[in-house]
Amino acid sequence: MKDLLPILCCPRCKDDLLAVPNVLVSRAGLKSGLLACRRCEEIVATVRNFKYDFVHFKDSPLFSQLCLADLEAQQPVVLEGYPVDETISFDDKRLHTSGSWRIWEDNYLMTEGEVGTSVTFRGVFTDVSIRLLNSEWSGCAGLYLDGRLVREVDLYQSGWPIVRWYPVAYDLSPGEHELEVRASGRKNEKSRGQQIFVKEVLITRLSASESCKDGRTEINRVLPVFPSVRDLFANVPQDGLILDCGSGDRILDDPRYVSLDWELCQLPMVHGDVLELPFKSETFDLVFSQALLEHVSNPFVAAEEMCRVTRHGGLIWAGMAFMQPVHAVPSHYFNATAWGIQELFKKMEILQVSWFGELSSTVDWLCRASGVVEKASPEEYQLLMEHIRRMDAHVSYEKLQNIASGVAVLARKP
Ligand SMILES: [Zn+2]
Repeated sequence: MKDLLPILCCPRCKDDLLAVPNVLVSRAGLKSGLLACRRCEEIVATVRNFKYDFVHFKDSPLFSQLCLADLEAQQPVVLEGYPVDETISFDDKRLHTSGSWRIWEDNYLMTEGEVGTSVTFRGVFTDVSIRLLNSEWSGCAGLYLDGRLVREVDLYQSGWPIVRWYPVAYDLSPGEHELEVRASGRKNEKSRGQQIFVKEVLITRLSASESCKDGRTEINRVLPVFPSVRDLFANVPQDGLILDCGSGDRILDDPRYVSLDWELCQLPMVHGDVLELPFKSETFDLVFSQALLEHVSNPFVAAEEMCRVTRHGGLIWAGMAFMQPVHAVPSHYFNATAWGIQELFKKMEILQVSWFGELSSTVDWLCRASGVVEKASPEEYQLLMEHIRRMDAHVSYEKLQNIASGVAVLARKP
C-alpha cells in the first residue's frame, strides 16, 4: 500500500498538511484520521480505510464521528497486522437471503423489493461497503450494521443504469460483524419499481500473515487505458510516480500509479477536484487524463493544475471530447478541437497532437443520443450504419481531424 501523505498538500493554499491519525495499522500506516491545513485553519480531508477524501467527506454522516480536537487529544489506536481486502460477489454462498431473491442476468442478486426482503453477510471485518445498481426500476434500501440502520439509500437513477459504491462502516472493533441490506418498501416517486440489485460486498480485515499482504489487483470498470498512454509508462523511472487524473472507477497494478477522481466510486486512491489538486507541485513523472477535461467547469484551470503537479521534464497526456454528443449529464461542459486542446497546454512543450474515433462511431453515437435509432427499424438502421462504415475507409487521418470523436495532446513540462 502506497503512503501518499508525503505527496499530498492543502488543495487550496498548497501548504503541507497535518495528519491527525485515528487508526494506524502496524504494517501499513495511516488507516483513518483527518488531514488539516494549519494555514487555512481547517480540516481539508478525511482518511478512511487508506483512502483520502478531499471532496465528499463533509457530506458524509461518518465525518461527524471524527473531530479534530478529540483526535489531537488522544493517542491513535494501533492495530497489528496487514490489511486484506476481500470481495463477496452477488453469487457467493456466504450471502444469506430472506424473502424472494434471484440472480438477474448473471450479474446481480435481485429482489422486487417487498418489505421484509433482505440479504445478509456475516463475517470478520473492520470495514464494509457495498456496490448496488442504480436504475429506473430501483427502490430504496436500508443498510444495517449489526442490526442498526446506518443509512438509507435511494437507488433510483434515470437513464443508463450504473453500479454505485456505498460505504457502510469503518474501523469496527475486531471480530465478527453483520451487514444487512433491507428493502425499505419505499421508492423515489419517479421510479418504476422498488427493485434492489446487489453487485458485491467489500470487506477489509486485518491479517497477521504477510502472505495475505494486499497484492494490488488491476480492476477497470471504465474506459480502458489507451495503449498509447500505457506506452508512456516506460518513460517513468522505477521509483517515479504516475497520476491518473480523473481515473473513474479504476486501479492499475503498478506501484508507481496514483489515481484521483471526483466521483465517489470505490477504486480511486484519492477523491479530489482537478481544479484544486491536493498534490505537491512537481510530484509526478507522468500525468494522464482520459475523457476528463470535457467534464470540468474550467478546463484551463484543470490543465494548469495538471502542469503544476508534473515534474520538470515530465509528461502530460490528455484526451478529451471533440465531436461527442452530450454525455454524463449535467457535468459535460466544453468539447475541444485539436487546436483547442493545445491552447489548454500552451505553457508546455507540445510533443504531439492526435485525434481518434471514426466517422461511423461518431454518427452512431449521434443517432443514439438524438433518439432517431428507436424511430428506425433495426434493419434500416443497420443498413445505414453499414453504408457509413464503408465511408470510414475514405476518411483520411488528416480529414478525420475535422470530425474526430476526441482529440489528445502529449506535452512535456519544460
Ligand atoms: Zn490550506
